Amino acid sequence: SDSHFPVPVSPFHVDFSLHYPQFFPSTGEVSHLKKIQFADIGCGFGGLLISLSTLFPETLMIGMELRDKVTEYVKERILALRVSNLGQYQNISVVRTNSMKYIPNYFEKGQLMKMFFLFPDPHFKEKNHRRRVISPHLLDEYAYVLGVGGIIYTITDVEELGDWMKSCLESHPMFEALAEEELEADPVVKLLSCATEEGQKVARNGGQTFQAVFRRIVPTS
Ligand code: SAM
Repeated sequence: SDSHFPVPVSPFHVDFSLHYPQFFPSTGEVSHLKKIQFADIGCGFGGLLISLSTLFPETLMIGMELRDKVTEYVKERILALRVSNLGQYQNISVVRTNSMKYIPNYFEKGQLMKMFFLFPDPHFKEKNHRRRVISPHLLDEYAYVLGVGGIIYTITDVEELGDWMKSCLESHPMFEALAEEELEADPVVKLLSCATEEGQKVARNGGQTFQAVFRRIVPTS
């Protein structure tokens, strides 16, 4: 349960120099000079972070994962990559947390430029829809931590969940769909179906995928 991991009181209480030592001078004080801009929600085994790390080497990114053992695995994986590729993979890290509860404890208003929800758990039954990581209520939170122009990327192999995520985003006044040309021009879109462990599994089995990519906008009044 949640009592097994620490929850920061606010983003100002997280010492990000422990996550990204090369990006922060070791003054001994909690430093907030550079801010995380990408968050992979329910990052699983971390494949997306690893692909994004070298694509955006100056951008700090974090994975949020609920399962303890999986989080530890991702930590070890990143440390090993740092050792075998000196100077690289310094911009990615992971925290064990419940992203459905604690997003505002980690990020300030407007701080994020990209949020990822790749192959989230489907929670099929109607009574469990409130457990889905995309919902009208949670989109309010994501709109809060995303900067204007920031992008939410979602993908799933479950058609019903794909329809659900898309319709939640379409109904929200602070998000608009990216145009087809924008999707084609965005190198990150190509990673959605192939960079994560779940995506690779779906691809191996020849499964179909359903994506929704939306931008945080200022609502027209
Ligand atoms: N995104 C990864 C991928 O594409 O390979 C993992 C997909 S896996 C099906 C869903 C992941 O979300 C699991 O690792 C699960 O532990 C994590 N998860 C589920 N609920 C969560 C929550 N409330 N907070 C953080 N992570 C969560």
